[in-house]
Amino acid sequence: MANILVYALHYEGAINKNSLGAVSEGADLAAKTGGECHAILVGEGVADDLAASLGTHGATKVLRAEGPEGLAQPVVDAMAAAWASGAYDYALFGGGLLGFEVGAGLAARLGIGVAMEITAVHITDGALVAERPVLGDSAISEIRFAGEKGIIIGRLNAFELRESGSGPAAVENLDVSYSPFSTQAQMLIRGEQRGEQVDIEGANVLVAGGRGLGAAEGFQLCEDLASAFGGGAAVAATRAVVDAGWFPYAGQIGQTGKTVAPKLYLAAGISGAIQHKVGMQNSENIVAINKDANAPIFEFSDLGIVGDLNKILPKLTEAVKAKKGG
Ligand SMILES: Cc1cc2nc3c(=O)[nH]c(=O)nc-3n(C[C@H](O)[C@H](O)[C@H](O)COP(=O)(O)OP(=O)(O)OC[C@H]3O[C@@H](n4cnc5c(N)ncnc54)[C@H](O)[C@@H]3O)c2cc1C
Repeated sequence: MANILVYALHYEGAINKNSLGAVSEGADLAAKTGGECHAILVGEGVADDLAASLGTHGATKVLRAEGPEGLAQPVVDAMAAAWASGAYDYALFGGGLLGFEVGAGLAARLGIGVAMEITAVHITDGALVAERPVLGDSAISEIRFAGEKGIIIGRLNAFELRESGSGPAAVENLDVSYSPFSTQAQMLIRGEQRGEQVDIEGANVLVAGGRGLGAAEGFQLCEDLASAFGGGAAVAATRAVVDAGWFPYAGQIGQTGKTVAPKLYLAAGISGAIQHKVGMQNSENIVAINKDANAPIFEFSDLGIVGDLNKILPKLTEAVKAKKGG
């Protein structure tokens, strides 16, 4: 039997999607072992309804701690206080910057193992086994905990959101005495990542860039082509480049990003991994540029161009401009 404690991040009265996925995953895993999934919310004046709503995703109880919102150390204090009850075997996080920071902090505080960047979890002999992609996502490693307890931090949005619960969760207030160092930092302003407004779902033409662009600056070639097409064209990206910080998450296509179906989808330097394909395979026309003739993307492209994108994209941009002008 495994009881799982899941951290749920909330902002402006809503719990973020990534956390809802983690609660869904925690509930599913706990149920399979005959245990329970509880969620924890830390914030100022968290509403009853908001806390209880986690029951929809399978949490049977929600611990509500009054404290500063959106900062890592107070959450570590609160989770450590909950953990002290001895009721929990695993802590689960959806990932994201705060999830990574809190999860790592909690592991250090409790002296137990932590598995990060996890994309799936399964159960073997009643224990949770975390799956982590390695070698550029070409293989999956399995992580088992040496002890009976462990902390699992997912990749952002890796866990599927499910509504498996049977109604509102019981809400219990948790008393936490915060460490002096935990209350030194103050949240002054919360900003969104650059490019949050990237709208790829409404675009007619998408010029998507992958690792083959070589660097964040490589996206300029995609931007140039998209602006040559004019209104209705936008730039998108693969997860590899979003993870590398070359492009905002709002522009990510695929399993853990957005699903798109533009009239024209042009892939530049994208290998065509299955997790990317599921997000764009319904595009009307798929054109791919890749220097590797054996790249999987050519298997589902209407037109494949084998060559160096650094040479082809500028020529294509000129050709589109000439056509538009003519
Ligand atoms: C659970 C899970 C969820 C995932 N979710 C997503 C998701 O939502 N979206 C997503 O995209 N991925 C996702 N991934 C990652 C996915 O498996 C791939 O790792 C990723 O899509 C690869 O991105 P890429 O094509 O940019 O990079 P790579 O696979 O490294 O491909 C780069 C390509 O560029 C080509 N290239 C290099 N230089 C040039 C050049 N000069 N000219 C032309 N071509 C060139 C190479 O031949 C290569 O084919 C997920 C993975 C997992 C495990």
